Amino acid sequence: GHYTKRDIMRLVEEEDVEFIRLQFTDLFGNLKNAAVTASQLEKALDNRYVFDGSCVEGFLHDNDMDMFLCPDLDTLAIFPWRPQQGKVARLICDIQKPDGTPYEGDSRYILKKVLKEAEALGYRFDVGPECEFFLFHTDDDGNPTVFSHEKAGYFDVSPIDQGENVRRDIILTLEEMGFEVESSYHEVASAQHEIDFRYDEALLSADNIMTFKLAVKTIAKRFGMHATFMPKPQAGVNGSSMHTNISLIRDGKNIFADENDPYGLSKEAYWFIGGLLKHAKGLSAITNPLVNSYKRIFPAQTGAGFTAPSYISWSPVNRSQMIRIPAQKSESTRIELRSPDPSCNPYLALAVSLAAGLDGIRNQIEPPKPVNQDVRKMTDEERKCLGIEPLPRNLAEAILGLEQDKLVKEVLGEELCKGYIAAKKKEWEDYCSQVSQWEIAQYLYRF
Ligand code: GLU
Ligand code: MG
Ligand code: MG
Repeated sequence: GHYTKRDIMRLVEEEDVEFIRLQFTDLFGNLKNAAVTASQLEKALDNRYVFDGSCVEGFLHDNDMDMFLCPDLDTLAIFPWRPQQGKVARLICDIQKPDGTPYEGDSRYILKKVLKEAEALGYRFDVGPECEFFLFHTDDDGNPTVFSHEKAGYFDVSPIDQGENVRRDIILTLEEMGFEVESSYHEVASAQHEIDFRYDEALLSADNIMTFKLAVKTIAKRFGMHATFMPKPQAGVNGSSMHTNISLIRDGKNIFADENDPYGLSKEAYWFIGGLLKHAKGLSAITNPLVNSYKRIFPAQTGAGFTAPSYISWSPVNRSQMIRIPAQKSESTRIELRSPDPSCNPYLALAVSLAAGLDGIRNQIEPPKPVNQDVRKMTDEERKCLGIEPLPRNLAEAILGLEQDKLVKEVLGEELCKGYIAAKKKEWEDYCSQVSQWEIAQYLYRF
């Protein structure tokens, strides 16, 4: 449904909402908010909530600009974990400049821009994300650790699976907030979990990912646990992915499907895959934004058996690829992009991924042949023969990939791109100047 200002005012009154959080997401995927009380709501709904844009990380601010938060009325939701008298609700906001135009550094605006382009072609994107996360213990001071007692694995049941009760409360909370939770289970690594909610239009899905992460962390904390979406919190076991299932709708029909094709895929689906593969190196710094992201997708010898992709390839069957085509076909036909991890800014990640696919469709980019075997088990020679290249191996390579991808840079816009790249270069340099435990263990004794 589409809410009006009046609807919001009435709902806030009826539901006994006392605080309204005006939320947005910064460039690096951090959720931010300011609270107003119900008495100030009308002002906020008139887009008159002003804040200092210069204090938010990643915002480009030549002149300490005032910014305005503009609530998207359809995003009203009540936090079930806050008191139920004098409730707390949130509204997700767009960001405007003082002259009333959208702020180009707002990641939600960047996704909207791409979706508008798609709309002009008669397209709508549906996106279904699958976010994995770990549930770790906190120490005596309440600080997060990378430790858990539990030893469960894929699809295990309780009492081996000790996350059962936390997952239950997370799901009930999400359902109260209007999510349709489709599936949940213990993932491969100890203390690793997955909860999947129903696909939706791309913008809603990006909003949902932010809400999902907040709910998971909040509920885990109630249990004295720390939920983390860090891509690779522990070496030697699986990392956490954010598989992104994409389908393309025109006139209410899923046009990625074609019954007459051996893989059930339409021309548009093949071109979309072609676009994603072509821009794979340019997407990485956005879909896998951390130094740590590359520990997950690095093809370590000991990592044989992890299903994170390391190479730029696709397959209708094999899970070691960057892109896979899940088995459900016809109306459920979708492209599963397996490289993203849940530390990304979902608005930016979807914006660049969808734009890359659209580029494929526009320019009818044919993908290479599918690779229906485990790419990680091939020799370098075999991969070379098939023209299979690796994904960026670290953040520095990913930044380079972004710098060399005109399309992705255009989607992000020049200013945002500059700010993002500068921040990521600094992150990489900070990391490179550290001396790690591994180095001490390897070198201190011997040299
Ligand atoms: N955890 C794996 C990854 O990092 C994905 C596991 C799965 O296939 O669900 O990509
Ligand atoms: Mg999974
Ligand atoms: Mg998946």
